[in-house]
Amino acid sequence: MQHHDRLSPATLAAQGVGAEPMPHRDIVPPIHMASTFERAEDGSLPGGRIYARDASPAYDPAEALLCQLEGGAAAALFASGMAAATAVLLALEPGARIVAPRDMYWSLRNWLIGFSTNWQITLDFYADDDELAALLQRPAALVWVETPANPTWDITDIARAATLAHAAGARLAVDSTVPTPVFTRPLALGADIVMHSATKYLNGHSDVVAGVLVTRATDDFWARIKTARAAGGAVLGPFEAWLLNRGLRTLFPRVRTAAASALRIAQHFEHHPALVKVLYPGLPSHPGHAVAARQMEGGFGAMLSLRVRGGAAAAQAVAARVRLFRRATSLGSVESLIEHRAVVEGPGTRCPDDLLRLSVGIEDTNDLIADLAQALEAGHSA
Ligand code: PLP
Repeated sequence: MQHHDRLSPATLAAQGVGAEPMPHRDIVPPIHMASTFERAEDGSLPGGRIYARDASPAYDPAEALLCQLEGGAAAALFASGMAAATAVLLALEPGARIVAPRDMYWSLRNWLIGFSTNWQITLDFYADDDELAALLQRPAALVWVETPANPTWDITDIARAATLAHAAGARLAVDSTVPTPVFTRPLALGADIVMHSATKYLNGHSDVVAGVLVTRATDDFWARIKTARAAGGAVLGPFEAWLLNRGLRTLFPRVRTAAASALRIAQHFEHHPALVKVLYPGLPSHPGHAVAARQMEGGFGAMLSLRVRGGAAAAQAVAARVRLFRRATSLGSVESLIEHRAVVEGPGTRCPDDLLRLSVGIEDTNDLIADLAQALEAGHSA
C-alpha cells in the first residue's frame, strides 16, 4: 500500500485501489453476500469476522478507498447519510454540548433538535465563523460543520473551526457531501470525522442510498461509532456497497465535469433580470467565496441556488418550465436536478421561498444553460 501515497487521489479512485488484493486477481471486486462466517474447530475465526452486521467484506473496497481519499485511519459505510451522521451524535455522552450551523441539511437539523431535547443535549446554532468562535469560548463535545451548506452554500472555515473546536475540548465533524474529497479534505484541515451522504456524488447515479464516516483516529469515540453501527444495525446491503464502489471509480471526472458546468451556469445567470441572486461559492459575490477559494482545491462543487424575482410562485413556475433538468430532490448524480426547496423542507423551513436548488449533472453545459434560459425568459417576458 506504500506506493499509493505517491499516487493522485483521482488515480486511486479510477483503479479502486485500497482493498486487499483478491485471490483471482479480479479487476473488480465480487459482491460478498455472506451474512455469517464459519468458526474453526477450536472456536477461533480464521476469516477474522463473525457476522456481517459487525463487519462485512462487502464494505472493504469502498471503505478502503474512501479512507485513502480522505486521508483517514478508518472508514465505515452506513445504510444512509442520516445513519452515518446520527451514529456520530449517538456516540456522544448524555448531557453533551453540540454546536452546529444554523443553515444545514434540513432533515439532520430537525433530527438534532429532537435529539437534543430528548437526550438533555445542549444545542447551539452558529450563523457565521465569528459566531462559531464566540460560541466556542465555552466547552463543547462536538462541532458539526456542513460546508458548502444546504441550500445557500454558506461556507465555514474548516481549519479555523478545528482550532476553535479543539481549544473548547470538542471534536470537529464535517458533512462533506457537497464538496466531496475531490475538492475538500477536511481531515487535512484539522477535522476529526468526515461524513458523506454517499447517496450523492460518491455513488453518483441516483440508485443507492448510503452513508460513510471517515475518522482521523481509531480512538474510543470511533469504537462507540462502530458500536452504534453494529448494534443499531443501520448497515448497507452488499449489492448497494458494490454499486457504491463502482460509482466511486468515476468520482473525479464526474464531479470535476459537473462543477465546471455549475461555475459556467452560475456566471451565465448571475445578472439575469429574472433572478434576485445566484448563490454559488465560486462567484466572488458569494459571502463565503474567499474562504471557499482557500479551502476548496480545484473547484467549488456542482450545487447552486437561484433566487427568482417574484417569490414562491415565480420560482415554482420556473421549475415547472424546465425540460431538461429533472424536478426531483437529492443531488450529486449524473443528471441535473431542480427543486423548489422550501416546499421540500416544509413548515418551519428557513429556506427563502423564492429559492430553486440546482444539482448540476454532467450533461452538456450549453444544453443546461439553454434549458434554464428558456424557463427564466418565458416568465420574465410574460
Ligand atoms: N447531508 C447532506 C448535505 C445531504 O444533502 C443529505 C441528503 O440529502 C444528507 C446528509 C442525508 O443523506 P441520506 O439521504 O443519504 O440519508
